[in-house]
Amino acid sequence: MSSSRFDVIVLGAGMVGASSAAQLSLRGARVALVDRRDPGEETSFGNSGFIDAAAFMPHVMPRDLKTLFARARGKTPHVHLHVAMLPYLLGWLSRYWRESTPERVVAAAERLSPLAAHSVTEHRALAKEGGALDLIRDTGVLRGYRRRATFEEGAADRDLLRRHGIEIRELDGAQLAELEPCLSPVMERALWHPKACFSVNPGALTKSHAGLVTRGGGAFIRGDAATLTRGADGWKVDTAQGPVSAPQVVVALGPWAKELLARFGVRVPIAIKRGYHMHFSLQGNATLSRPISESETGYVLSPMAMGVRLTTGAEFADRDAPPTPVQLEACEPVARRLAPLDKRLQPQPWLGARPCSPDSSPIIDAMPGNPGMWFAGGHGHWGFGLGAVTGRLVAELVGGATPCVDPKPLGLARFG
Ligand SMILES: Cc1cc2nc3c(=O)[nH]c(=O)nc-3n(C[C@H](O)[C@H](O)[C@H](O)COP(=O)(O)OP(=O)(O)OC[C@H]3O[C@@H](n4cnc5c(N)ncnc54)[C@H](O)[C@@H]3O)c2cc1C
Repeated sequence: MSSSRFDVIVLGAGMVGASSAAQLSLRGARVALVDRRDPGEETSFGNSGFIDAAAFMPHVMPRDLKTLFARARGKTPHVHLHVAMLPYLLGWLSRYWRESTPERVVAAAERLSPLAAHSVTEHRALAKEGGALDLIRDTGVLRGYRRRATFEEGAADRDLLRRHGIEIRELDGAQLAELEPCLSPVMERALWHPKACFSVNPGALTKSHAGLVTRGGGAFIRGDAATLTRGADGWKVDTAQGPVSAPQVVVALGPWAKELLARFGVRVPIAIKRGYHMHFSLQGNATLSRPISESETGYVLSPMAMGVRLTTGAEFADRDAPPTPVQLEACEPVARRLAPLDKRLQPQPWLGARPCSPDSSPIIDAMPGNPGMWFAGGHGHWGFGLGAVTGRLVAELVGGATPCVDPKPLGLARFG
């Protein structure tokens, strides 16, 4: 095989592409993993780090109109809407609305839970191969509720999680204080997923998975996915090392995939929910051992290697519009009443873009009309945790092996 000829080209080295390249390489394929930046420097860098088998629960639109309009008008920091985007989002939002009924939430769990069940084991397996197990913590993750009423509203979700085998423990304020003694006693109730884990450095874990591409004789190469073409001998892309080609290509470009696929005549229903983060030091000797989200405001605090990371909910905006971190500003004082946050540790908030399908499940499929082209994306709020097992499914589909789960429910055809 010539040095520019590979078995598979993987476009995009976020968690989804890096894991796909790793899983293919560990199965013996020679992979060119191509990105215009180093691995794990976009969305997969800045998230909250959750790796949780419960990642099949969709982030739905509120179905009661009062809450919906309150969120749309920015009355709570869960959502921030750039109103100018509404005309572009209407089709996607109406599908999202239809996918937010209790019946469709049950359907979403059935569609995605088989894949999500492997999310922790697949991440751990890749991290072990890469010598990066220290980047994953087995502490579980927490969800806090300031008001008992909000906790009660989540009863159906808890039943659904348990029906799909997720261990959850319901904590009162005192039990939460035993787990996290430095938090203020503002939470009436909390949920603990003890079997979940999280990464203290999501970007570094992505880089570690990407590094496994050399195992099959492949390489990470800088290049621009926009140069992708299809010729008689398969797919070709221009890179810093000249053109590389392969009979198969996996598009894993996260929030940038839609434009490339459109050029090849494939439409994927993906919208962007932007999110922000800021790192903080903790006061004195205070500690936080595991991530905690707050239901009433929608932010997360995750203890990362670089400080405690506060991440925000969904911002419906053009992917490339200038930052408008109003949710971060609104959440910071609320988070300070929960945790002993001290100084901001970076000059500007980080901004990233979640690539979201309207039914909150990823699309992992061959692309119609484009032999040898595959797409893995649209993971929304859960693409970091689902990345490693997505990579496994991609590797099995591309290599023609028996897949670990039935891929049909995750196919593009479900959108008609
Ligand atoms: C605030 C926030 C918190 C989150 N928290 C969690 C969480 O706790 N757990 C969880 O599971 N998920 C979480 N997510 C979601 C998760 O981060 C994403 O779903 C996931 O990172 C998407 O990965 P990806 O590989 O598809 O995309 P990306 O990580 O964005 O990777 C896409 C890659 O494509 C490359 N690229 C783009 N264009 C080109 C081009 N023309 N040529 C070459 N390369 C190109 C980019 O450089 C990038 O490396 C969160 C997201 C946000 C924003």
